[in-house]
Amino acid sequence: MLENKDELARIITAENGKPLKEAQGEILYSASFLEWFAEEARRVYGDVIPASAKDRRILVLKQPVGVAAIITPWNFPSAMITRKVGAALAAGCTVVVKPAEDTPLSALALGELANQAGIPAGVYNVVPCSRQQAPAVGEVLCTDPLVAKISFTGSTATGKILLKHAAGTVKRVSMELGGHAPFIVFDSADVDRAVAGALASKYRNSGQTCVCTNRFLVQKGIHDKFVEKFAKAIERELHVGNGFDAKTTQGPLINEKAVEKVERHINDAVSQGASVVTGGKRHSLGKNFFEPTLLSNVTTKMLCTQEETFGPLAPVIKFETEAEAIDIANAANVGLAGYFYSQDPAQIWRVAEQLEVGMVAVNEGILSSVESPFGGVKESGLGREGSKYGIDEYLEIKYVCFGGL
Ligand code: NAD
Repeated sequence: MLENKDELARIITAENGKPLKEAQGEILYSASFLEWFAEEARRVYGDVIPASAKDRRILVLKQPVGVAAIITPWNFPSAMITRKVGAALAAGCTVVVKPAEDTPLSALALGELANQAGIPAGVYNVVPCSRQQAPAVGEVLCTDPLVAKISFTGSTATGKILLKHAAGTVKRVSMELGGHAPFIVFDSADVDRAVAGALASKYRNSGQTCVCTNRFLVQKGIHDKFVEKFAKAIERELHVGNGFDAKTTQGPLINEKAVEKVERHINDAVSQGASVVTGGKRHSLGKNFFEPTLLSNVTTKMLCTQEETFGPLAPVIKFETEAEAIDIANAANVGLAGYFYSQDPAQIWRVAEQLEVGMVAVNEGILSSVESPFGGVKESGLGREGSKYGIDEYLEIKYVCFGGL
C-alpha cells in the first residue's frame, strides 16, 4: 500500500470525492492497520490456569474464528476495510469483503495488491454489488453456516437487519454503527483551541464521518464569542471544490440523497427558529456540493439534534449548566464519540466519566488512531476495532483440560 500510496489516494478521491490530501492521509491511516496487526499477530498468547484439581492442567488456546464477512461503508473506502481485514488476517481468518456500492474500487485495488504481495488466493475476497443487490448478498453472508463472523460498519438501521440474520446461526458479530457526537464547549475553554477542534471534527470528509460532531453544545458565557470565531474560521479556512484541486478542503457529498438530508435538517431548524450564521445552501459548483453551514439558536426539538446529519452542518445549542449539557449529550440512543473543551481538571474527570460514548476527546477535535480502541456504546455498536483489542474480535478462546496427571 505504501509503495502505491499516490495511486490509491487518487482512487479514493475519484470514487468518494474527498480532497486528495485527506485521501493521502486515509491511505497512511489504512496501511497503519496492516502494520499494527502484523505486529499484534506475534502477541496472540494463550494462557495456563492453575487448576483446582491436583491431577489436572488447564490451558487456554486462541484460534481464528474462521471465515469473516466484512461489510463496509463508502466514507473511508480503504481504512474501514483494513481496520477489519488487518485484524482478521493476523488472527488467521480468511475474509469476504462486501464494499459499499458507491466505493468498490479501493477494495478491488487492495485485492490486486494482495495478489502482488503473495497473499494466497481465497484469503482476501471481494464481492462488489449494487445497492439493489446488497440486501441479498448481506443475507447470504449473515446466514451461511460457512461464515463464522460478521463485521459491519455502516448505519444503525442496516446493522439491526444484519444482527437479525446473524442470529439464525449465532455468528460472532462486530458492529460499528451510527453516531451523534456532542461537542461541548464549557465557559473555561480555550476558545481558539475549541474553534480549531470544531473545524477539524465537523468538516473533515464534508461531515461524513461517524465520529464527526453532530451537535455543538456551548455554555452561555462563551457562546457568542465561540459562534463568532467559528463562523469566521469557516469562511476563512474552508474551500469547497473538486477534490483533485490542491486548495480544496471540502469536496462534494457522496450523492444527492445525502444533500437532501442536509437541506431537510436546515429547513426544519430554520422553520423552528434557528438562524443561519454562515452557509445554508447548495454550492454553485453543482448539485452534490453544499456550503459548510453554521446554525445558532438551535434547540433539542429540531431534527438536526435528534438524528445524524452526516453532512457539513454545525448546529449550536446554548446551555447554562454542566448537568444540562450532560443530559442533552446523553439523550441520544447512540453513543460513539464525544468531545469537550474545558480547562477545569475536576470538570474534565466528571464529564469524561459521565458521557455515554465509547470514545471521548478532551480538548481535541480528532480522536481516531491505530493504537486506540474504536467503537461505541448503546446503538452505536458492538466490539472494538484497532488497538490491542481489535484482534480479539477474530479469535476464539478454547480451553483444554488435561486430566489424570
Ligand atoms: P449503510 O448501512 O446504508 O451502508 C453500509 C454498507 O452496508 C454498504 O456496504 C451497503 O451496501 C451495505 N448494506 C446496506 N443495506 C444492506 C443490507 N440490507 N444488507 C447488507 N448490506 C447492506 O450506511 P451508509 O449510509 O452507507 O453509511 C453511513 C453510516 O455508517 C452512518 O450512519 C455512519 O455513522 C456509519 N458509519 C459508522 C462508522 C463506525 O465506525 N461506527 C464508520 C463509518 C460510517
